[in-house]
Formats: sequence, C-alpha cells, structure tokens
Amino acid sequence: MHDKCTCCHQPFEPEPGYYYGAMFISYAFNAAYFFTMWVALSLFGEFGTLEFSIALISIAAILFPLTFRWSRVLWLNIFVRYDSRVKCS
Ligand SMILES: [Zn+2]
Repeated sequence: MHDKCTCCHQPFEPEPGYYYGAMFISYAFNAAYFFTMWVALSLFGEFGTLEFSIALISIAAILFPLTFRWSRVLWLNIFVRYDSRVKCS
C-alpha cells in the first residue's frame, strides 16, 4: 500500500493507529456474513453447531481479504472527503 495517494497526496494513514476503528466496520461485515449464512443454512436443512461453525469460520476466512480492504476504505471515507475538483493525469 502506498503511503499517500498518487493523485491527490492524501496520506492513507493520517495518524498512528488510524485503522483501529475499521475493526468495528469489519465486525459489522462479519455479522452480516454470519447472519446471511445462518439464514441460508437454515433454509436448506438441519445443521448442527459444528456444521454451522465450520461454515461461518470458512466464509469469514474466505472473505477476509475483501473484508479487510472494504473496512479500511469505508473507515477512511468516513473521515476524508472526496474532492471531485482534483484531477489526476
Ligand atoms: Zn487521491
């Protein structure tokens, strides 16, 4: 990851520990995955706690790279405004 945006020079880590707050967004993503998986598995039959656990851990592990980036992007976009006047060449 670059230290700054190559276009507008916005630092991607404005202060140390900036992305700790992204954990809360990641938590929300994982809660959504878990709820969706729980509903989907409940619709398709009877599953025990072990099967649910394996499915939930698997989906969280598979989607981790996306969740990690989406959480950080969303967290950064909460505090940094998009400026459409900046044009990259
Ligand atoms: Zn930029």
